[in-house]
Amino acid sequence: MSHDPSCIFCKIVAGQIPAKKVHEDDQVLVFHDIHPWAPVHILLIPKIHIASMADLQPEHAALMGHMSTLVPRLMRELGVNNGFRTVINTGADGGQEVYHLHMHAMGGPRPWLKG
Ligand code: AMP
Ligand code: ZN
Repeated sequence: MSHDPSCIFCKIVAGQIPAKKVHEDDQVLVFHDIHPWAPVHILLIPKIHIASMADLQPEHAALMGHMSTLVPRLMRELGVNNGFRTVINTGADGGQEVYHLHMHAMGGPRPWLKG
């Protein structure tokens, strides 16, 4: 399924609920996390609905490569110049709360709320 109507991040992709967008292209949407742990905390999501990293298939390699290589560029553009942390929570034991694959990217001066 490329779109799950009950998924909150699919609703953001569809423009049905608002988000503070940082970047959008044909494959990926990037927006600020609503509860940031760090001065800069963004989420990178594929536009297609992939529930979690556990569901990745070989055909998603280019998408994941694109998402990963976007991070340093976007963090630089957001003024993060002293390093950052990327996190993908997967499944129950991985602490995943939203079941639409997303990569957290956090940066900015410490201390941070979490992470
Ligand atoms: P995870 O625990 O990795 O599934 O993280 C889900 C993240 O999504 C959390 O950091 C939430 O703060 C964030 N989040 C949930 N709903 C929204 C939303 N509507 N807009 C932006 N971020 C959200
Ligand atoms: Zn979704």
